[in-house]
Amino acid sequence: MTLRVRFAPSPTGHLHIGGARTALSNYLEARREGGAFVLRIEDTDPERSKKEHEEQILRDLAWLGLRWTEGPDVGGPFGPYRQSERYDRYRAVAMDLLARGLAYRCNATPEELDQMRAEQSAKGEDPRYDRRNRDKDLGPDCGPHAIRVKMPIEGLTVIDDLIKGRIEIRNELLDDLVILRTDGTPTYNFVVVVDDHDMGINLVARGDDHINNTPKQIHIYHALGAEVPRFAHLPMILGPDGSRLSKRHGHTSLGQYRDMGIVPEAMLNYLARLGWSHGDQEVFTEAELIEHFRLSDVGSSGARWDMDKLEWLNQTWIQSFASAELVERALPFLEAEGYVTAGLGARLPAIIGAFQKRSRTLVELAKQARFFFIDDAELSWDEAAVAKHLKPEAGALLSALADRLEAEPTWEEPALTAVVDALLAERGAKMGKLAQPVRVALTGQGVGPGVYEMLLGLGKEISVRRLRAGAARAT
Ligand code: GLU
Repeated sequence: MTLRVRFAPSPTGHLHIGGARTALSNYLEARREGGAFVLRIEDTDPERSKKEHEEQILRDLAWLGLRWTEGPDVGGPFGPYRQSERYDRYRAVAMDLLARGLAYRCNATPEELDQMRAEQSAKGEDPRYDRRNRDKDLGPDCGPHAIRVKMPIEGLTVIDDLIKGRIEIRNELLDDLVILRTDGTPTYNFVVVVDDHDMGINLVARGDDHINNTPKQIHIYHALGAEVPRFAHLPMILGPDGSRLSKRHGHTSLGQYRDMGIVPEAMLNYLARLGWSHGDQEVFTEAELIEHFRLSDVGSSGARWDMDKLEWLNQTWIQSFASAELVERALPFLEAEGYVTAGLGARLPAIIGAFQKRSRTLVELAKQARFFFIDDAELSWDEAAVAKHLKPEAGALLSALADRLEAEPTWEEPALTAVVDALLAERGAKMGKLAQPVRVALTGQGVGPGVYEMLLGLGKEISVRRLRAGAARAT
């Protein structure tokens, strides 16, 4: 049997990192098994569902590198893949359950149900539907009514969860679930099962915030005469304090991490490693994750979000990129800072390359690169570094270096090294005497990239001009 899994986001907001992790877990299972990964949009809440959220969720998933085999944009044999386009089907299934005596009409009014619950509470009982209309066999003319499905009254429902293990629920605790509301709209637990069944889903992997729905859904499968899929409920992602990750801990949407310059390879790697490990390996390519990841190996308790670790992985991935690749990734971030990046030629890869080993995120890379792009007058000066490194003796060296570099026709590292080495040899000075003054003159700061990285990134004209200005400050 071919594995068929799905990711079923509700387009009511951004793609949460928990959702991204659920999607990834499903995707990896499908890829390993050569199965289908279905994307279904659960837009049954007309107030909160928005087309732009749907589009953004699809873009975010694609950014992460996930590809679905069936979905609202790519189609497939079991479409439509948007719940708002499947209402006729839900209605037909509800009518069929009604005709087969597995569901029934319930015309209890909201006031009546409120009173029922109030009486239960007064007696110290948990409020729940008391099955008052279950055996009345009400017909279509019973006034405004909902359709409820008959849940078993006795016995146990067992879930053999791939992650959580065996879970047992006493059936007497299950309410006769409304499947069609009085206004004719279907409810979540019902449509999910109809769709998962229609779409041939045989493994449902989702967040464990849905675990209370699963026993109800299992009985809807039974009512439909359908095979119950396997389930895997992924534990929630926790904040550093151990409570469920929320906005007060920091960013929670995938897009926020993209915007802060996390690369998708690092995000994919990090999300897969949440609550799952493979020996002591930390860095995984997508192919390695496809090979090694198993939902059944995910830990059953929540995994903590660790920003330091994500940034460490991000830095590792940034360091692994070839020059042209890194330029492509970094460009949008440089542009977001307002830098003009056109027409720089070989300077651009030199600028970006100067920070490849020094950046935890692409935003950090762009911010560090500021001195390459701004006018000399906008440089911010670390006065302590100026006082320490731009002394008269250094000024003379800087000015001699500026003259010689100006006369150097080739602006490439070997030629620049030769100029510097010759100057140092003549003056009997060591690189240590020159490097800091050059850095302060070119950047205004005492920390930054290597001397040649700075010279190559700035190009001849700016380098010579800043060295001379530095020399002037030093005298
Ligand atoms: N649409 C649901 C959600 O976004 C997911 C339902 C499911 O995976 O069964 O939480």
